[in-house]
Amino acid sequence: MDYDIAIIGAGPAGLSFALSLRDSGLKVAIIEKQPAESLQAPAYDGREIALTHLSQKLMHAHGSWQRLGDGNIHPLMAASVLNGRSDYRLHFDAPANSKGPLGYLVSNQNIRRAIFAEFASSEAATLLDNTNVQHVRTDASGGYITLDNGTTLSASLVIAADTRFSATRNQMGIASDYNDYGRSALLCVMEHEQPHHHTALECFFYGGTLAVLPLDEYRCSVVITVNSAQVSELLQMSEEAFNNEVAQRLGNRLGSMKQCGERYHYPLVGVHARKFYGERFALVGDAAVGMHPVTAHGFNLGLSGQDLLASEIIKACKNQRPFWDNQVLAAYQQQHMPNARVLYHGTNTVVGLFTDDRLPARLLRTAVLRISNHLPPLKQAIRHKLMSEQHPRLRVF
Ligand SMILES: Cc1cc2nc3c(=O)[nH]c(=O)nc-3n(C[C@H](O)[C@H](O)[C@H](O)COP(=O)(O)OP(=O)(O)OC[C@H]3O[C@@H](n4cnc5c(N)ncnc54)[C@H](O)[C@@H]3O)c2cc1C
Repeated sequence: MDYDIAIIGAGPAGLSFALSLRDSGLKVAIIEKQPAESLQAPAYDGREIALTHLSQKLMHAHGSWQRLGDGNIHPLMAASVLNGRSDYRLHFDAPANSKGPLGYLVSNQNIRRAIFAEFASSEAATLLDNTNVQHVRTDASGGYITLDNGTTLSASLVIAADTRFSATRNQMGIASDYNDYGRSALLCVMEHEQPHHHTALECFFYGGTLAVLPLDEYRCSVVITVNSAQVSELLQMSEEAFNNEVAQRLGNRLGSMKQCGERYHYPLVGVHARKFYGERFALVGDAAVGMHPVTAHGFNLGLSGQDLLASEIIKACKNQRPFWDNQVLAAYQQQHMPNARVLYHGTNTVVGLFTDDRLPARLLRTAVLRISNHLPPLKQAIRHKLMSEQHPRLRVF
C-alpha cells in the first residue's frame, strides 16, 4: 500500500483529522484539488462560524486555536431568539459562575488559515495539492484512488472529507438523506449604531430568518435566509437600500446599519449520510453530515466526529488491531451518528416551524418560546451543548 490512510479533501475537517493522527505513526496522505497557496491564504467567504467549547478544546489540542490570533476570536456572551415583530424573546446567557462565554465566533477564513498553518508546520501527512480525485473503490485488500492525471494511489483506509456534495460518498454507494430547503443564506458584515453586547440574535419572520452574529462591539455579521427566488433581489439592492432593509427587519434594535464588505450567498442544502463507513472507508465533516447553518453546528459536528474516528484508530493501533477494520469504523459511527441525527433532524424541525408563516405555526412558535423560557432544564441542556468540553454521549436508536 502507498499509504496507511488517504484523506480526500483538505478542508477544515480533513486537515483536523490529519492533525489528530499526527502522533499515530501512520503514513497519511491528504489529497486536495486546490493549490496549497489557496489553503495557506484562503479568501474571506462571509461565514462567521460559531464554535462550541468542545471545538475550542479540540482546536487548542491540535495547536490551531493558538494560531487564530486573539483579535480574530469574538466571544459570544448571550443569545436571544425572537418571533416575528414581538419583543418577547427566548434568552440564554453564560451562567454567572461559568469560566467563559457561551461560545466563540471566528471567520471560516481564519479557521481554515490557522488549521492549515498548523498542518503545514507539522509532519502530520503528505499533502497532494492541485490533485483532483476522480474515482474511489475499496475491497477487502484496501482502497484505490484514481487521480485526474490517471495515476492510482492505494491506502489501507480511505477517508472522504470532500464537502457535503461528496462525490466519493456517492461512488462508494452510501445513500444519504438530502434536503434542499429551497432557501438561500445571504451573509454580510455590517457596522451599527448601538452596541450588541456580544449577544447573538435569531429573528424568525417573513417566512425567513435574520441572525446577528456579534463581532466587535459595533460590528456584526448579518445572516438573512430567504426563499431562493428572493435572494437576487437582496443581492442587487443598492447599499443604502440594503442598510435600511436590514435595520427595518431588525426593528431598529441596533440602530442604523452600514454594510462593510461584500454580500455573499449560499443555497441551503442539508445532507445526512445513512452510514458513516463502508469497507475500508469512512466519512468525516460535511461529507458525513452537512447541516443547515441556523443552529450553527456543521463544523462543530465535523470536528467532534473526526476526533472520535481518530481516537478509535489510535486505540486500534495501540492494541495492535487493524485500524481499518469494520469494528473500528462501526465504533466511530456508534458514537457520532446518534448526536448527528438528533442535531440534523432537530435543526430541520426548527427550520420548518420557524419559517412557516401560517397562523398555527406562528402561534405554536410563540408557545414554544414561552414554554422554553420557563423550562430551566431545556435552557440548561442547550447551554450544556454549547459549553461542554466533552463529546455528547447518546444511545444508538
Ligand atoms: C452560511 C454558512 C454558515 C455556517 N455557519 C456555521 C457555524 O456557525 N458553525 C458551524 O459549526 N458550522 C457552520 N457552517 C458549516 C461549516 O462551514 C462546514 O461544516 C465546514 O466548513 C465543512 O468543512 P469540511 O472540511 O467538511 O468541508 P469543506 O470545507 O467543504 O472542504 C472540503 C474540501 O474537499 C476538497 N475536495 C472536494 N472534492 C474533491 C476532490 N474530488 N478531490 C480533491 N479534493 C476535493 C475541496 O476543495 C475542499 O477543500 C456554516 C456553513 C455555511 C454554508
